[in-house]
Amino acid sequence: MRVLLVGSGGREHALATAIARSPLLDTLFAAPGNPGMADCARCVSIAADDIPGLVEFAKKEKIDLVVPGPEVSLVAGLTDACQQAGIACAGPSKAAAALEGSKAFTKEVADAAGIPTARWQRFDTNSSTDAAKAYVREQGAPIVIKADGLAAGKGVVVAQSVDEALDAIDRLGLPLVIEECLVGREVSLFAFCADDKASLIGAARDHKRVGDGDTGPNTGGMGAICPPPDFDRTAQEAALDLTVRPMLAEMVRRGTPFRGVIFAGLMLTEEGPKLIEYNVRFGDPEAQALLIRLESDLLPALKALAEGTLSEDSIRFSDKPSISLVLAAKGYPDAPIKGGVISGLDRTEQLPGVSVFHAGTKLDGDKLLANGGRVLTICATGPTAAKARSRAYEAAATIQWDDKMLRSDIGL
Ligand code: ATP
Repeated sequence: MRVLLVGSGGREHALATAIARSPLLDTLFAAPGNPGMADCARCVSIAADDIPGLVEFAKKEKIDLVVPGPEVSLVAGLTDACQQAGIACAGPSKAAAALEGSKAFTKEVADAAGIPTARWQRFDTNSSTDAAKAYVREQGAPIVIKADGLAAGKGVVVAQSVDEALDAIDRLGLPLVIEECLVGREVSLFAFCADDKASLIGAARDHKRVGDGDTGPNTGGMGAICPPPDFDRTAQEAALDLTVRPMLAEMVRRGTPFRGVIFAGLMLTEEGPKLIEYNVRFGDPEAQALLIRLESDLLPALKALAEGTLSEDSIRFSDKPSISLVLAAKGYPDAPIKGGVISGLDRTEQLPGVSVFHAGTKLDGDKLLANGGRVLTICATGPTAAKARSRAYEAAATIQWDDKMLRSDIGL
């Protein structure tokens, strides 16, 4: 099979490594890829959101399967463009990717499908901030204020007081979704999905803040553990039945079936798991921790997902605990310091149970440089979570550059 993998982060390096192991693979291309991916893929300099460029390349190279990594490709309509060109693509259509793009859409689907989620109300641009404020006064605090639609990413405020919520409404403007505040511990659940079929990948708990003890600004993610100790496989299967399968049926009913990796953000409340959000692709660095537990061939599963022939046993993951640690550059997330020369990687890659994935790295002659916020991800598995953790931290200590930074409390 000739495969084009789209993206350049640690998530995509982990996908590339898994795809490259497949006996069905003929050639793997990565667009744009990174220096780590160059070991197992031919990197081509096409950006992940250059849809015409990617489709043109796929046609020219007679690609059998396109595998999108990041959300930018999906939101820009890569799957739809591939379909029009008659090329299989293992990701959701633009219509189905609205599950990540619009919070109100997700809530509507969840309600229609009977999925437990926080009580909510949407205030769109035809409404008024006064109406939103009246709703907040009536509901009281704590309460969650979220920007919706194209403003996504601009903000989610978990307001502890009515005043804080009123401020957030002024700051975020309309459209807004206002939600009941859920209390519990968060987990992320991952599954391969095609139409009405879902096959469990596993679950992880990520660490979003840059500093130890969950302090400092939010990042793309500084590390993940898998599985979360309070969310075993039985609980994961039950949550899949409760929060993913009914959504898939509802998307089929709407004529916009979902095919791809679903990432359900859940709150484990006293009343059971409740849906916070969906993402329509793997998380980074959750993907790295999940994919090192892969026991079966990834490529036929990706192909089955793209073609809608996925079955529950298309893919198999071990239950072994795993962990991913992000090695970032000082200054991340605001202004990461670039250019440090990375050393020690050769040794790290020889350690048992350890894998290293590149993200923000760059080759300069034979030197490997830090060239972004999140530079490398170290992953480890082990017989116990504690062993996986100690292996990952020992491995992280073998890699050096001047401005290296990592959290010391992932998996504690
Ligand atoms: P992300 O970048 O993490 O995907 P997002 O902008 O898509 O975030 P959400 O995932 O909906 O937004 O919310 C971000 C975070 O806010 C959640 O991970 C959770 O910690 C908190 N949160 C969101 N909704 C609620 C809720 N109803 N109750 C309590 N906390 C919530």
